[in-house]
Amino acid sequence: MASEGGERQAQQEKGRRIVFFPCPLQGHINPMLQLATLLHSKGFSITVIHTQFNSPNPSNYPNFSFEPISDGLQEASAKDFMALFVALNIRCEAPFRDCLVRILSENKRDSIVCIISDASFHFTQSVANHLKLPRIVLRTSPASCFVAFAKFPLLQQKGYLPIKDPQSKVPVSELPPLRVKDLPTIETKNSDDFDQLIRLVISQTLASSGLIFNSLDCLEQTILTKIQQEFSIPTFTVAPLHKYSPGSSNSLLTQDSTCIAWLDNQVPGSVIYVSFGSIADMEKQELVETAWGLANSDQPFLWVIRPDSVRGLDWAELPEGFEEKTRGRGCVVKWAPHQEVLAHPSVGGFWTHCGWNSTLESICEGVPMLCWPSFGDQRVNARYVSHVWRVGLELENGLERGEIERAIRRLMVEKEGEEMRERVKVLKENAESSLRKGGSSQESLERLVDYILSF
Ligand code: UDP
Repeated sequence: MASEGGERQAQQEKGRRIVFFPCPLQGHINPMLQLATLLHSKGFSITVIHTQFNSPNPSNYPNFSFEPISDGLQEASAKDFMALFVALNIRCEAPFRDCLVRILSENKRDSIVCIISDASFHFTQSVANHLKLPRIVLRTSPASCFVAFAKFPLLQQKGYLPIKDPQSKVPVSELPPLRVKDLPTIETKNSDDFDQLIRLVISQTLASSGLIFNSLDCLEQTILTKIQQEFSIPTFTVAPLHKYSPGSSNSLLTQDSTCIAWLDNQVPGSVIYVSFGSIADMEKQELVETAWGLANSDQPFLWVIRPDSVRGLDWAELPEGFEEKTRGRGCVVKWAPHQEVLAHPSVGGFWTHCGWNSTLESICEGVPMLCWPSFGDQRVNARYVSHVWRVGLELENGLERGEIERAIRRLMVEKEGEEMRERVKVLKENAESSLRKGGSSQESLERLVDYILSF
């Protein structure tokens, strides 16, 4: 009888190319290419089909083949998020299908075993069906967010959606511990487009051959069990993907590493790191409040201000007097080597928009959070960070300098923050063990490899 390893090898020789199709936004590209790197290390050949908009840099992945498809999105912007998703799903369908057909005809020896597509590309299911290829979906947000989206029709029926009061703290009894304000909605001019997108994303995920979450059993055990009971779809939890390969290889903006030298000169655990990810933005007055909140907190800070952080401006000046008041204890950059910063011993807290990658990256470095979610899954994540895992606190009433100053102190110097730091260290250890032999993510990954080889 052939050994297990021998069987695997024989199966791999039958068909071992996986085609990845990332959604072209920073928070989606990172986990997708990290998963590709991981599966490459398991012996698969990798092809990445990608849009020209926010194209990844092939030179960082000499072992992958990259296939650009024309998307007609020269004028696109991640700012109009919803319009971008709708346009991508319409414009990419034909070029994506044609590209797959070409790869299939060219690669006789190394045929495609499956497609791994970002969940937001719902059209890829019908293309996969048409070409008789299995499609596995990668969700780059947590399982709790998937369940919330799946329940949208029920929440509409019950009158929670569309949200009437964005600040409403009324509990959503169908989705504890979420309140109305935590539901993963996105403000958009065309709410019908949003509803339809969510409906299609969920139905086409459930029609797929499998579902991968960049999440951890130890963070979402209850909800993951519920998914297994409610939906008959093979599910894999393989987080934290960023621990397999650094996000810096996929960065769409240049990371300013000078902040690391600045961090080297700070007291351990003293710095609050402030970054709201690649898309979230704010009003000019909110930037002013943020600046004075940081200045008045008297804590050292490293603040990422993306050039397009302030709505309607290419670059916003910081308020007069801010530089003088914070001289020597503040560092501002346009984009940071995020994971390196979070892992730096000087960093003691992270003020975040709670994008799922940022949340996981913070947990994995044992850094407690101050949460200021903006839209979509960030709201769900903030609720879990503050009320389920209790490793952060949420700025609930918008950005006001006095409230910011108090929240920063609570996180950085008070007992409450110390307790959060203790709890997040436990999560960090759990995340580390999940990657070791016999750990939940490691086992899930092995199951995923075997599952792909069984196609
Ligand atoms: N990131 C970075 N430099 C920064 C801020 C963020 O490299 O200054 C990376 C971060 O490591 C994360 C990604 O950008 O992997 C942002 O993803 P996330 O899901 O946190 O938020 P999004 O940008 O999708 O809202």
